Amino acid sequence: MKKCEWCESSKIQAGEETVFWELPDGSRAITITDAPSIHCFSCTMNYQSQQTIKEIEDQLLLINTGLLPETISYKSLLEQPRLLKRNYFDFS
Ligand SMILES: [Zn+2]
Repeated sequence: MKKCEWCESSKIQAGEETVFWELPDGSRAITITDAPSIHCFSCTMNYQSQQTIKEIEDQLLLINTGLLPETISYKSLLEQPRLLKRNYFDFS
């Protein structure tokens, strides 16, 4: 069962929200709309799951962020063509 990553309550609900995201190079921040989010009714936190954060961070490292508009939907962001830098950024 899924639990809140902050208070471990199971009273959570998945949704979508608009988030501000700083680019990995720190040059600027973009607005990501419809990002998968979790709302916890116990501690009232609204947040992105670790998995969603990783997806966004990975994608931002693999695409040309200079081409990104100031506002982009989560779906469009993940559909951006990736550059061939995978090995360079894969620290695992
Ligand atoms: Zn919580």
